[in-house]
Amino acid sequence: MNKSQLKTPYFMINESKLIENLEKAKHLKEISGVKLVLALKCFSTWGVFDIIKPYLDGSTSSGPFEVKLGHEAFGGETHAYSVGYTEDDVREVADICDKMIFNSQSQLAAYRHIVEGKASLGLRLNPGVSYAGQDLANPARKYSRLGVQADHIDSSVFDSIDGVMFHMNCENKDVDAFIGLLDAISEQFGDHLDKLDWVSMGGGVFFTWPGYDIDKLGAALKAFSEKHGVQMYLEPGEAIITKTTDLVVTVVDIVENEKKTAIVNSATEATVWIR
Ligand SMILES: *Cc1c(COP(=O)(O)O)cnc(C)c1O
Repeated sequence: MNKSQLKTPYFMINESKLIENLEKAKHLKEISGVKLVLALKCFSTWGVFDIIKPYLDGSTSSGPFEVKLGHEAFGGETHAYSVGYTEDDVREVADICDKMIFNSQSQLAAYRHIVEGKASLGLRLNPGVSYAGQDLANPARKYSRLGVQADHIDSSVFDSIDGVMFHMNCENKDVDAFIGLLDAISEQFGDHLDKLDWVSMGGGVFFTWPGYDIDKLGAALKAFSEKHGVQMYLEPGEAIITKTTDLVVTVVDIVENEKKTAIVNSATEATVWIR
């Protein structure tokens, strides 16, 4: 179909640009052994999952509906994370996920018996350090509910879980800043991590940004993985789809009041900040 025949508003996804990002992801995996799971809260357009699937290892989620989408439409490994589960959520999700990541020790204690034997058990930790311009997404801010703080950890928990997840970056284009966070985590939690099978460093690492030193990132992830004997994960969302997609709209009016304002037939997309 000719572009001009399509009814606006629509997203125009550039397949070759998407593949460029995915090739970078593939390179990162090859040099580091990291596994990559797509964060569906950032991008859940299942129409292009067939293009993405061969490059990534699975998907991750911010709530039960995304777990279902990941399981049904993406495949591979399905990671289930939520800031808070109801018991019904846990029962539904436990059967279709590979990893169940709880946000707190109380949720873990309440529901682990439902998950055991079905999925790998994980806990989100709050490293107390971050690289995020967005306050809402910043676990290091005061009163943050995102993950267990170091001084709240009951260390016996690490004998009965398989992995942990950290998520403390947002649009981090600075590889050295990320490596600084990795070092801080290794220092602060290293003894605990040694007991685990996997560690996820979350999303927000902008390794597809032009000029990003992917090889340096890969070497740091590999070194961390070897030091603590864990499978590393990243959970990219934005990094996979950045610069691939336009929202195409029609200008339906131009209003003039000292300056001109175009009125279009779409709202700007509002990300729901549920993290
Ligand atoms: C939002 C989120 C991601 C993805 O973040 P991006 O900035 O899109 O890479 C990954 N993991 C968790 C836990 C998240 O909340």
